[in-house]
This record gives sequence, structure tokens and C-alpha cells, in this order.
Amino acid sequence: MAKKNLKFDSLAIHGGQESDKAYGAVMPPIYQTSTYVQASPGDHKGYEYSRSGNPTRHALEKSIAAIEDAQFGLAFGSGLAAIDCVLKMLKPGDEVISTNDLYGGTYRLFKNMFETFGIIFHFVPMGAPETVQSHVNANTKLIWVETPTNPMLNIIDVEAIAEISKAADAILVVDNTFATPYLQQPLNLGADIVMHSATKYLGGHSDVVMGLLALSDKTLAEKLYFIQNCSGAICGPMDSFLVLRGIKTLAVRMQRHCENGEIIAHFLKAHPKVGKVYWPGFEDHPNHEIAAQQMNDFGAMMSFTLASGKLEDTIKVVSSFEVFTLAESLGGVESLVGHPATMTHASVPKEEREKTGVVDSLIRLSVGIEDAEDLMSDLDNALNLI
Ligand SMILES: *Cc1c(COP(=O)(O)O)cnc(C)c1O
Repeated sequence: MAKKNLKFDSLAIHGGQESDKAYGAVMPPIYQTSTYVQASPGDHKGYEYSRSGNPTRHALEKSIAAIEDAQFGLAFGSGLAAIDCVLKMLKPGDEVISTNDLYGGTYRLFKNMFETFGIIFHFVPMGAPETVQSHVNANTKLIWVETPTNPMLNIIDVEAIAEISKAADAILVVDNTFATPYLQQPLNLGADIVMHSATKYLGGHSDVVMGLLALSDKTLAEKLYFIQNCSGAICGPMDSFLVLRGIKTLAVRMQRHCENGEIIAHFLKAHPKVGKVYWPGFEDHPNHEIAAQQMNDFGAMMSFTLASGKLEDTIKVVSSFEVFTLAESLGGVESLVGHPATMTHASVPKEEREKTGVVDSLIRLSVGIEDAEDLMSDLDNALNLI
């Protein structure tokens, strides 16, 4: 891969990119085409049909590989389509050990789709790696890690899980959506595959739905490419262009997200109307040490509870913001607020969700890159209404 020795911020802009061969366009052209001319049967310029390959998608696939320090990248129509592709490497009877407080859509895909096809799932808390070890057996084929988790911001020790995974001859996949490669590079911590919902920070502007995979093992990459082409859940050239454009500003966006995240986390912790604040940058976070080791900074995702604990107060607060927008999703330049109990986790029974910390007054923030003072006064105004 070209430009391999660059540092992260430069790779986000140049990694895997070549200037356009036809007219020298600096930006990758959007090859909005389904098919490609052949001079004689089989004589083409590397592309035959856009499900199998498209130059704009390939530019993006090389970019994600470059910033995850990987050899291969694959792009899909959504994060879930990327996950679906990974799981299709398994056979009935194979077992998966997965993080228990998983992104809701991933849980639904595992439980309601792949379990019916005979894949066996163990959903376990991974804060202590021994718990993972205790579920390993001869059928363990895949370990699925999400860190930091949603919405409790638990941290999982990727290196420790990678050791367990290697010993079990399993494939370790890390959903790196919350951290982004700016904060952590799972392949360098021992993971085999890294997965992204590029809908979030990589796209960064809440204007596209997309999934990405990155990995360095050629055999695994060939299997995944086969499934990508076979099942066909690819993304289009326009969306590829948008995410490629998003990645170019990932480093500067993340820098500001992290600065704002730290300010807001401390602001909330000191606020009299706030109960607990969940953010891995706090020294009293249960896995702060691991976060400090495996991440370059602590990010801008956080959750907090209200001191009153009341549902009606919570609804009032989340409905009263002027800068934060009440919406699902995360990772865009604009600040978003979510209420897990009634939004993302509404389908989880109250008793179940409260066991993992998703109480009625839990509020999740995706802190954007606006002025931090505007964000603090917005939070303060809303909190002081109760
Ligand atoms: C959003 C999300 C997904 C699913 O991605 P889509 O692009 O919505 O399909 C998976 N994992 C995490 C952590 C997410 O936030």
C-alpha cells in the first residue's frame, strides 16, 4: 500500500489513495455505474460489475484499511450488513461468545437471525476476561467484542481477549464504532477483524448509513470478499464518496470531540441535578486503566443519570435542549442526546435493562464539535428545569 509510513492524521487524508488516472481529479470520482465495457470477453480494466467491485468503493476500502493499519478493507450498505457478512463465515453448531451489553441491532441480528440458523451465542459480561475463558469450548469459532459499550461505556481489555481467542483458535472481531481508529486500533491489540458502523464517526455528518470491515489475514479476507459479492450487501459509489470525505477530517473532528467530551463529562459530574456519570476518562471508571492503555484518548460518548432518578424529570430534560438534538445515532459533528430506556433499549424488559445499568433516568450523550460553552449552558438550562 502506498504512503505506508505516514502518521494517522496524514493517513486519514492520503492512506491508500491515488490521484485519478483519467483526468487527474484530486478527489476520487464517483463512478456511478453498474457495469464496465469489455474490449473482448474478459478483457477489461479490473472491473466487470459494481456488486463485485467499484473504483469509488475500492478507494474507500483502501482508506479504512490504511487507518486501521490493515491490509484489506470491505464496505457494506450498513454496519449490520458488515456484521452479517462476518457471521456468514460460520456453520450451524458453531459457537460465538459475545459482549452482553451489545448494540441493540447486533443483538437482534445474532439472536433473531443467526440463532435460528443453528449458531449458538453466549452473551457474557467481558469486564473480567476470565468470564470469556469460562465459555470457551471446542465449538467456539468467534468472539465478538464491542468496546466502549453502549450505553454504559464499559471497557473491554482487547489484548486479554485476543490471547483467549488465539488459544481457542477463534476469530476475534472488535466493533470499533465508538472509539474509531483515531482512539484505538484493535488489529494492533490482537484482533483479527475490525468492524465499523461508518454511519457514526467515520462518516461523521449524520448523512449516510454504511458498514466497514478491515483485516490483514488474506484467507479471512478472501472468505469475506466471497460473501460480500455473494450476498451483495454493498454500498453505492455516492455513499462511498461521502464516507471517504468524512474520513479525511476524522482526526481533527475526533480531537475536538475528545476535548469537548472531557469538558462535558467533568461539567456533568459537578452538577447537583446529576447522579452518576459514565465516561472511561474518569479515574474511578472500573476499567479506566485499560482504557488509558488501549485508547489514545477517552472519546465523546457518555451517559449519566439524574440525581432524582425520576422518569418524568428525564423526559423533561431530554425534551428541553436547544443545541443537543434528541435523536438516535451518534458520532456526527452535531451533539445528540438519547434516552436509552424509551429509545434504543425500549424492547428490553425493564428488569433486564436495569441489571446492566439502563435505568429510567439514564441519558446518553454523543458530544459534538460545537463550542463547549454553548453545550454546557444548554445542559445547565435543561437540568435546571427540574
Ligand atoms: C450503529 C451501530 C451499529 C449498526 O450500524 P448501522 O450502520 O446502523 O447498521 C453497530 N454497532 C454499533 C456500536 C453502532 O453504534
